[in-house]
Amino acid sequence: MSVRVRFAPSPTGPLHMGGVRTALYNYLFARKHGGQFLLRIEDTDQTRFVPGAEDYIKESLEWCGLVPDESPWVGGPDGPYRQSDRKGLYKQYADELIAKDKAYYAFDTPEELDAMRERLKAAGVAAPAYNAVTREHMKNSLTLSADETKERLSRGDEYVIRLKVPRHAEVRFEDIIRGWVVVHSANIDDKVLFKSDGMPTYHLANIVDDHLMRITHVIRGEEWLPSAPLHVLIYEAFGWERPQFAHLPLILKPDGNGKLSKRDGDRLGFPVFSLNWTDPVSGEKSSGYRERGYYPEAFINMLALLGWNPGTDQEIMSIAQLTDLFDLERVHKGGAKFDPEKTKWFNQQYLRMRPDAELGSQLLEKLLMHGIETSHARATHAAGLLKERATFVDDMLEGTYLFTSGSPLIDNPTANEELAKRWKPEAAPAIEDFLLKLERLREFTPAAIESAFNEVLREKSMKIGQVMPIYRLFVAGRIQGPGMFDVSALLGRDEVVMRMKAGLQHCRP
Ligand code: GLU
Repeated sequence: MSVRVRFAPSPTGPLHMGGVRTALYNYLFARKHGGQFLLRIEDTDQTRFVPGAEDYIKESLEWCGLVPDESPWVGGPDGPYRQSDRKGLYKQYADELIAKDKAYYAFDTPEELDAMRERLKAAGVAAPAYNAVTREHMKNSLTLSADETKERLSRGDEYVIRLKVPRHAEVRFEDIIRGWVVVHSANIDDKVLFKSDGMPTYHLANIVDDHLMRITHVIRGEEWLPSAPLHVLIYEAFGWERPQFAHLPLILKPDGNGKLSKRDGDRLGFPVFSLNWTDPVSGEKSSGYRERGYYPEAFINMLALLGWNPGTDQEIMSIAQLTDLFDLERVHKGGAKFDPEKTKWFNQQYLRMRPDAELGSQLLEKLLMHGIETSHARATHAAGLLKERATFVDDMLEGTYLFTSGSPLIDNPTANEELAKRWKPEAAPAIEDFLLKLERLREFTPAAIESAFNEVLREKSMKIGQVMPIYRLFVAGRIQGPGMFDVSALLGRDEVVMRMKAGLQHCRP
């Protein structure tokens, strides 16, 4: 049987990075086994519907390259893929369970339900529930006569359909990640499956859809593990073969203290969403990885390793490699701590792998926004030098001094402070000598500049640390950056000479 997996988000807000990871693991598993990756929108709970959330989910997955084979947007053989579009389909399944005596109608009013809970609490029951014991004392088709049930239904009384959970049964299933899960049915209440307003609850819709969509593996977040025994019971009630379950570990806050939740937003200094999001009600804005300048490949690579590893030290993996190596057996049981610094590191690695010409085009665009014009060739050359120290394309803007003309010490208090700290009058003759040599160089190449520099150090018996920072501050106006011989060659002799002369003048009383 070919593998069919699904990502089943509820459109209740933006996609949290944990959701993207669930989609990713489903995607990788499907690709690895030559199966299909489906997307189903679970919107049975209309009260939690958030406008724009479905589009957001679609756009996020597209940005990450996790495009489903079947979805509300492209269709497929088992559609529709949005539960609100399948509304008419669930009633017959609820009826089927009633016919099989696996479910029953319940007519209790909210007041009656409250009274039942109060009664049980007073009797010392910690978690009162509608279950195999309490249903005996409630208003349902098990306690009412067949005629009364019929009459209530025909007169249009409000009702719900509840699962008839067996009183003494052991529910067991083997989770691919967690191993055997065994729960006694006494701990499961008679969950509502269907309501008289015609809508199924999440549990019924989820099971019916997974069955009809021929899902073979349910790969989802750990928060659904407590529902899994109930789901197993529903499969058994129908007499359907159930899919295999794999419950993924939680993603934890960087300090390991609790789950990284949607509410963490930007509070901890990093985004928890893939794309920017503005809450349609409160107007509150949250930032996304895309807009922060992350590459989707880096984001995906980081997420893949948040709860799984290939069993080697390999960290940088393309989606093709991930597909090759991924397996559910290696997914960890314990929560995975999110590491924002590591996430930056991934981006840095992916940025370095980008061709200089591509980074050059991006840099060119950013420079233009800052009113700096240059050629693509020059931007490419500069990008090649700047990328080693950049995490994001934006970081390369640190190198604007490569494109402007004039001393970088002018109107630059930071550079002047640095210079004041480092300047020693003994550096002056060395810089002067270097300047002369540069003026006389036949070829103004990094290698030639470097040997001139080394000659100066030798002749003046000075250490690199006494001269290099001054040379750097004079020419680049900053203490860190790409190699100065490369920088000088890119700037050209005239510009370098001019900046060094200006620097000397600046330092002399
Ligand atoms: N609709 C559920 C969610 O929003 C999906 C649960 C499942 O994958 O079975 O997470």
